[in-house]
This record gives sequence, structure tokens and C-alpha cells, in this order.
Amino acid sequence: MPGLMKSSACLGWFLAAVWVACSCLCAAAADRPLVYVGLPPQRWLVQQLASNRVQVGLLLAPGQNPHTFEPTSRQVREMSAAQVYLMMGLPFERALVKKVQAVNSGLRVIDVTTGVPRRIQPAHAHAHGADENHDEDGCCEGADPHVWLTPDAMTTLASNTVAALVALDPAGKGEYEARLAHLRERMARLDSELRTLLAPVRGGVLLTYHASWGYFTDAYGLQQVAIEAEGRAPAARQLAEVIDLAKKERVRKVFTEPPYDPRPSQTLARQIGAEVEIVDPLTEEWDTNLRAIAEKIRAALFPADARK
Ligand SMILES: [Zn+2]
Repeated sequence: MPGLMKSSACLGWFLAAVWVACSCLCAAAADRPLVYVGLPPQRWLVQQLASNRVQVGLLLAPGQNPHTFEPTSRQVREMSAAQVYLMMGLPFERALVKKVQAVNSGLRVIDVTTGVPRRIQPAHAHAHGADENHDEDGCCEGADPHVWLTPDAMTTLASNTVAALVALDPAGKGEYEARLAHLRERMARLDSELRTLLAPVRGGVLLTYHASWGYFTDAYGLQQVAIEAEGRAPAARQLAEVIDLAKKERVRKVFTEPPYDPRPSQTLARQIGAEVEIVDPLTEEWDTNLRAIAEKIRAALFPADARK
């Protein structure tokens, strides 16, 4: 049965070739440093800057809430193999990093938000006395943690990420820096695009269930009004104030996000004759998402010249 012998020899060679290819690929994957991040837009950022030079581990799955997120024990175990954690300053990160460092003392933790001017959340400043010294949101008392939602802040996050990547993989320095220069240009273009897009609704009210958009509204001359305060539904008096303001500003959309129960937003929308718009500030494709959200905001807000 020479035919059969020939085909089994071929199969043998084929399997050997597959084995060699697999082991090369696996070895390549195992050789690449492992970088961990919390949020999907951070994985997008690392991939823009590093391409395939590093492996990226991600903690949050789509629809998970970073304010209440708790990693599984499997995630903690997997993260123990990482060389670097790029920290965003979210509440869950400190406890997590402590846990991982207890088993992997070599894990380097880099705060990628260093250099981003932090805004203080007005609701937080209002809800807590000045002498209260807790800082679960990040660097400082009441700091708004949603720093990844402007091109300007993303540029700073990118520079810090590249510094971490170069320290981890000095051979890639030229590649990382070239990609950073390219990304800076893209961010500057996106910023001016958003500025032009949102100019007609400047001064308008962005009514949102969760206060994710403070950096964005500050950057583009809008006002963020959040319904939820400190993770809780608003008191009746605060809600009445929001309703009055929304009617006065002729708000047409109530923005909310996937992790939150849409019902309070739907109820408010009915009361003011508006509709609910669901947007996700944690979508991985960060630039297309931010552009799409800016277009929705532009469509939802009353034009400045018609407001007078
Ligand atoms: Zn948030």
C-alpha cells in the first residue's frame, strides 16, 4: 500500500511542520512581555503604541462597571504573570495591585494618569466635608476618575504608556516613539474635529445618568449635569432641580451607559419629554467611539444660537 504509506509520511511531515509553527508562535507569545490594563480603551491604546511587541491583559469585560468591579481569583492569578500594570486610578485598582504584588513582588505599577490635570467632581465636593480624607477615586480627594475621555488627556496617557513600555522593552524604543508621534498627530486632529463639531452647541447641557463626561464637557465648553450622585439615585429635591433645568435648557436626550439600570433615565426622560441615549465610554475602539458619541451629543443639544 505505497499510496497509504506515502500519505501517512506526508501527514507526519505536516504534523511536524504544524508542531514547529505552533511552538515558534507560542514561544514568541511567551517571550513577549505581559502588560495588564483595567479598561478596554487602555488595551486599544497599548495596541496602538506597541502593536505586537507586548501581550496585553485586560480586566474589565464589556458592560462591567469600573466603580463596582471586582476581579475574579483567576484574573488575579493571571495578572501575577504580568511585568507591568498600567493604573488608571480607579477604586478597584489599589486593592487588586496589593493582592497581586503579594505573590508577584516584581510587578511594576505605573500610574498612566500622571500629568493629567485632575478635575474635582462637584457632587463629591458637595457630599463630603473637607476634613474627610478618603480618596478611593484616585490621586486626590474627589478627583474625577474618567480621565480617558478627551484626546488631550489620552495623549498624556499615551506618553506615560510609552515611557513604561520603553522601560520594559528598551529594544523597542524607536518603534514605540514613532508610534507615539503618529498617535499625537491623530489626537490633535481628533481634538480639532470635535471642537468644530461641538462649536454650535457650546454652553449646552449634557444630561447624563452617570458623571462620566466632566473632562469632555470641560474641554468642549459644555455643561455636564449628572442625575446620579456618588452612585446613588438623587434625592427628590435634587431631581426636581434637574427637571427644571432640563426643561429650561430644552434637553432632548438623557444619556446613560450600559452598566446602569436604564429605568431612572427613562422616567426622567418621560417627565421632560426627552429620549434616552445609551453610550459606552468604555468601548475599546476609543477614537471611533468618541467621535460617534460627540456626534450624538451634537445632535442632542440645543444649538447655541437658537437658545438665546
Ligand atoms: Zn464612572
